[in-house]
Amino acid sequence: MNNPIPFNKPYLTGKEMHYIYQAVYSGKISGNGLFTQKCQQFFQDQYGFKKALLTTSCTDALEMCALLANIEPGDEVIMPSYTFVSTALAFVRQGAKIIFADSGAFHPGVDEDSLETLITLKTKVIVPVHYAGVACDMDKIMALADKYNLLVIEDAAQAIESFYKGKPLGSIGHMAAFSFHETKNINSGEGGLLAINDERFIKRAEIIWEKGTNRAEFFRGAVNKYGWVDIGSSFLPSEIIAAYLWAQLENITDIQQKRIQIWQQYHNGLKHWAAANKVHLPFIPEYASNNGHMFYLVCNGLQQRTDLINRLKQQGILSVFHYLSLHKSPFYMDQYEGPELPESDRYTDCLVRLPLYYELTKEQIEIIIATIIAP
Ligand SMILES: *Cc1c(COP(=O)(O)O)cnc(C)c1O
Repeated sequence: MNNPIPFNKPYLTGKEMHYIYQAVYSGKISGNGLFTQKCQQFFQDQYGFKKALLTTSCTDALEMCALLANIEPGDEVIMPSYTFVSTALAFVRQGAKIIFADSGAFHPGVDEDSLETLITLKTKVIVPVHYAGVACDMDKIMALADKYNLLVIEDAAQAIESFYKGKPLGSIGHMAAFSFHETKNINSGEGGLLAINDERFIKRAEIIWEKGTNRAEFFRGAVNKYGWVDIGSSFLPSEIIAAYLWAQLENITDIQQKRIQIWQQYHNGLKHWAAANKVHLPFIPEYASNNGHMFYLVCNGLQQRTDLINRLKQQGILSVFHYLSLHKSPFYMDQYEGPELPESDRYTDCLVRLPLYYELTKEQIEIIIATIIAP
């Protein structure tokens, strides 16, 4: 057997400890210091967000979105069932009823054309999830938001450095949430970002971020004392996290190039086999870019996927399936009143993700491809 190949290995640029050392010895290690500001400025400059706020996770950023959207019991929030728990959890905590949409026939992202039928007088928010960093059709979604006066909150957890018709993901909806969990392209162990594009939300976002106080304003010298002015929580990460993240951001171009290269090698090596075995490779619509976040296969059934995962495992290669439809989760199934979501269930059973991380070598990818193609 070859050396084991893990599914993920968090990338280190080598500068992380250097910046953490700087942060620690600067004497300011709580949040909203120099490294936090460098990171936030980077995101605003690079992607055109009106305001970027670092958070301790994407889950936190989504929770902030739910607070900013004033979600109240009974409000309806539309999102795909095929997504991570946090997408729903953040809104459920505020009492929202989740209206789950099905995935597309050719991609695990939400079926944009099914959304309009799910809108009612109680709908407040649509949450498109850019699965695998591949953009949802944002023109269609923003047009619905305009027509029905809804907010759009992008779950861009996997979508750093990805684009829709040339526009950065996370810059199109009213707000967006990104993740820097160790499994994402850019990581800080745990970490996240709230991006705000609608200026109406900026001032309140800073307050909610800082435990319901106007401390951020005070810090800038805009007010001469700070106090308790709203609800909120402690959503900001320490400077130690921001310092780590800064090292990653300095290397974003290199990280992205490498991941896209790996993705391409998989694609080239597997496309003939996939076509011959009724397996689908990731679908990237013309309007979307590829940020190399994930390389997945959609098998023709649960059996084929189980066989594939086992075959890879025997060679020490770890491949993993992904979400389980949220409308069938133990927590939500009793509350779910909508129709069957067959595509979401199909991806639950048939989708498998291959190892994809910076240090994965050409030779290792060849071994993985050969193992998949073997029989
Ligand atoms: C990773 C992920 C999250 C959660 O991110 P955390 O930073 O771990 O909170 C939410 N949504 C999607 C689609 C994700 O992939």
